[in-house]
Amino acid sequence: MKKDYSLQGLNTMGFNVIAKYFCEVNSLDDMKKLIDDKTFKESKKLFLGGGSNILFTDEYFDGIVIYSNLKGIKISESQQSTDKEFPQFLNSSTPEFLTVRCMSGEVWKDFVDFTVSNNLYGLENLVDIPGSVGAAPVQNIGAYGSEVKDCITKVYTIDIESGEERVFENEECEFAYRNSIFKKEENKKYFIYAIDFRLKRNAELKLEYGNIKDYLSKKNIKSPTLSDVASAIKTIRAEKLPEVGVVGSVGSFFQNPIVDVDKYQSIKETYPEVPSYPNDNGVKIPAGWLIDKSGWKGYRENHVGVWDKQALVLVHYGGGRPEEILNLMTKIQESVKEKFGIEIKLEVNLV
Ligand SMILES: Cc1cc2nc3c(=O)[nH]c(=O)nc-3n(C[C@H](O)[C@H](O)[C@H](O)COP(=O)(O)OP(=O)(O)OC[C@H]3O[C@@H](n4cnc5c(N)ncnc54)[C@H](O)[C@@H]3O)c2cc1C
Repeated sequence: MKKDYSLQGLNTMGFNVIAKYFCEVNSLDDMKKLIDDKTFKESKKLFLGGGSNILFTDEYFDGIVIYSNLKGIKISESQQSTDKEFPQFLNSSTPEFLTVRCMSGEVWKDFVDFTVSNNLYGLENLVDIPGSVGAAPVQNIGAYGSEVKDCITKVYTIDIESGEERVFENEECEFAYRNSIFKKEENKKYFIYAIDFRLKRNAELKLEYGNIKDYLSKKNIKSPTLSDVASAIKTIRAEKLPEVGVVGSVGSFFQNPIVDVDKYQSIKETYPEVPSYPNDNGVKIPAGWLIDKSGWKGYRENHVGVWDKQALVLVHYGGGRPEEILNLMTKIQESVKEKFGIEIKLEVNLV
């Protein structure tokens, strides 16, 4: 347990936050020992992966940060397989679906690259999302028409209050748009230590969303492979989003609001071009579009601002404080509310 630990490299906003205590978990035994520790029992606790979906609201975290450094990827049916042996399981007799177990401290991008290079389908549209594997189910990460919930079968956890293990089946995770059971306050006691993913050896690629098709046709790729799609999405993302470690951000700061059909129609009267995605609960309107139309795209105020290529992304240019982002966040929420009568909620977790 380290004291007064800087989290500057562990939050992609890049604020110099100091944690009172910081613990790296390298084994399940470590976690179990930690649970019996007196300081641990008495402190406020926070699980932290890459800090790419967390905004610290203060520069001091008065509690314990628990960081998963649990590593390993294996075919879950085979206790023997390890990263290195993995490809030899993929031969002509391998079944159509494989369950791959990944430990929570693996880096998400590396895990997706690993599945793509082993020709396993399912996670390719989620390529290059920053952060850890352990955080992926927490907000049910999604991008380019895919959500991680569609590949998760089990989430393995330890309840840090009781020390008991609990395995959540997919249906128990209450997955929804950028949401799951793990986001509820009362469930923040479940430390995710591993996840089972069900991946397919052959599948149809999802090319409908965003400009994947345009990109492929510009490159003259007529029958894209799994890795063509993954690299297309990597390039498109890199063009649109700030580079982690260079400009501070947490990706999408707000969730896309879902409005009722009447509201959508009233916006459409003034803005016929309004992008819209109807679903069972109404019509989803991109929050980035609402923020852009409210005049914020490219706005800068001292150390913080709104990314000029994607208005959904609030950025920290360095040297700033969390309250600057919080002020900007409030101003944007108020202005979207005033212009469109829509409340935009946070995608980022405030801590
Ligand atoms: C440039 C950029 C682009 C992004 N693009 C996308 C995108 O396309 N789609 C998308 O969905 N997200 C995106 N994000 C958001 C973010 O990358 C994801 O939400 C990611 O899953 C967060 O992972 P993390 O390890 O950084 O989690 P953290 O930010 O460290 O934590 C997020 C939450 O998960 C909890 N948590 C972390 N680890 C554990 C654990 N082991 N057990 C239990 N709880 C845990 C934390 O307590 C916290 O509540 C983007 C972020 C950035 C900076």
